[in-house]
Amino acid sequence: MSSLIGRNLLAGPEPDPAGDAGHGPGHPPRMGFFTDTSVCIGCKACEVACKEWNAIPEDGLELTGMSYDNTQGLGADTWRHVAFIEQSKPLGHAVTAADHSDIDVLALAAQGSGTPPAEAAVTPTTPAASAASAAPDAPPAPDAAAVPGPPAPDGRTELRWLMSSDVCKHCTHAACLDVCPTGALFRTEFGTVVVQEDVCNGCGYCVPACPYGVIDQRKDDGRVFKCTMCYDRLGAGQEPACAKACPTDSIQFGPLDELRERAAARVEQLHETGVADARLYGADPEDGVGGDGAFFLLLDDPEVYGLPPDPVVTTRDLPSMWRHAGVAAATLLGGLAAVFAANRMPGGGGR
Ligand code: SF4
Ligand code: SF4
Ligand code: SF4
Repeated sequence: MSSLIGRNLLAGPEPDPAGDAGHGPGHPPRMGFFTDTSVCIGCKACEVACKEWNAIPEDGLELTGMSYDNTQGLGADTWRHVAFIEQSKPLGHAVTAADHSDIDVLALAAQGSGTPPAEAAVTPTTPAASAASAAPDAPPAPDAAAVPGPPAPDGRTELRWLMSSDVCKHCTHAACLDVCPTGALFRTEFGTVVVQEDVCNGCGYCVPACPYGVIDQRKDDGRVFKCTMCYDRLGAGQEPACAKACPTDSIQFGPLDELRERAAARVEQLHETGVADARLYGADPEDGVGGDGAFFLLLDDPEVYGLPPDPVVTTRDLPSMWRHAGVAAATLLGGLAAVFAANRMPGGGGR
């Protein structure tokens, strides 16, 4: 306890969030997620596993028109969200499994399959070359100027997809937890942040407090929901459902210290192979939230993925605000006392 005296528990590096929350010295190590977006294939198995394990209601299956994204972002009913970002950028030095740069796929597409649409299991894309045999309602050939250009002379394409599975960051300093008046949000023995739906009163204070815009109120009852890092599974010695389901190990679960070491080595490896843009996000205990329990390897700036570039725990300045408010209150009381004393003195104007 003496180690806590004089420390600002709302900001700065914090080696043991679970211990500071009152869990005894024998509590388990802090557990977390390392999401390596460089190997995410956008399969969404993580989204599905999360929904299935946690019995989360369906929240819309309509494509947004923004690539293959049908959930748009994290919310009360989306605790994992796979972002699809299309960029006009070369793939870098990624080594593809098979080199098809000698094949002109656009020319092949322009030939068409020759199968009339009515007879095709999947409608052929461009039956232009066999226009005579094509059905009258066949779609027109694409405008050559409207399709992406051929590969660059070095064989690399000028289009890439970034895919990233976003989640609650289980912040070292979690403002959502700091502002919750009912104790519905709490720090577990694993150092994660969990909300208890039977204690939440729907006040919504935690929603604007989250620097990442993660926690969200369910529209029909007002209570908030977010990723629990599958607290029930952790208690049973199992890994979270999303990490279990991920086929590429893009989502890695384990003791946070080990994950940070593994992530640093992975960034180094990517740099050595020419992927200079690889960087970690949320792994630094010196950042504005004291580091995240769920951090990421990104291939571009955080803003590209919809992440704040420099998040700060929104309760960081509360201690100094209370200090200033205390000084202001003391000054006011002192002034009132002086006026009262002056009025009590003989000839001071008091009755
Ligand atoms: S502040 Fe936001 S990101 Fe951090 S633990 Fe709370 S809900 Fe998750
Ligand atoms: S840890 Fe569990 S609750 Fe959190 S995103 Fe993964 S599956 Fe969902
Ligand atoms: S994180 Fe894993 S499970 Fe989720 S979309 Fe990417 S590859 Fe699929």
